[in-house]
Amino acid sequence: MDYYSSQITQLIEELSKLPGVGNKSAQRLAFHIINMPQEQVERLAGSITRAKANIRYCKECFTLTDQDICPICSSRKRDHRTIMVVENTRDLAAYEKTGKYEGVYHVLHGAISPMLGIGPSDIRLKELMQRLQSDVDEVIIATNSSLEGETTAMYISKLVKPTKIRVTRIASGVPVGGDLEYIDEVTLLRALEGRVEL
Ligand code: ZN
Repeated sequence: MDYYSSQITQLIEELSKLPGVGNKSAQRLAFHIINMPQEQVERLAGSITRAKANIRYCKECFTLTDQDICPICSSRKRDHRTIMVVENTRDLAAYEKTGKYEGVYHVLHGAISPMLGIGPSDIRLKELMQRLQSDVDEVIIATNSSLEGETTAMYISKLVKPTKIRVTRIASGVPVGGDLEYIDEVTLLRALEGRVEL
C-alpha cells in the first residue's frame, strides 16, 4: 500500500538511488524538501539541472568544468611543464586545497583494474600521452596507493619512460588504500614533496 502520495514515493525512490542514501535518509530528505520554501526548492532543482547540462570535461586536463578549458589550464601563473596525474576531480580538488601545487593536472577518471575489467583504454591515458608531445618537464603520478592506483602508476611510468620526461610518484606517506580526498593537506604536501623518481 502506498502510505504517501505517489509523488512523494517517487521522490523518495529517486533520492534513495543516490550514493550513501538509504531508504530512511531518502524519506527524511524528501520530507525536508517538501517543507522547504518554494524558491529554495527551485534553486536546488535548478542547480542540479544546470550543472548536469553545462558541466563537461576540460579539453586539456579532463577535469570537470563549465568551460572549454578549466581555470587551472587557462591560468598563466601555473607551470604547464609539470603535470600531476590524478584519478578523479575530487583528488585534484584535494591538491588544490593545499594551495601549494603550481603545476597543472591530468585527470584519468579511474584507474586500471583487471578485476573490474577496467583497462588502460578505459581511462584518459591516450590523452595524457598526447599532452606529453608538447614541452613537459615532469609527470607526477598521484594515483591512490590502492592496488589499482599502483597498477596504474606502474603502467604510466612504463609509457612515459621512453619519452625521457622525468616521472615521479608521490611518496608512500599516503596510507595504503587511502582515498586521496580524505587525506589532510599536510600529508598530501609531504607526499608531494617526498616524491620519488620512477
Ligand atoms: Zn584543465
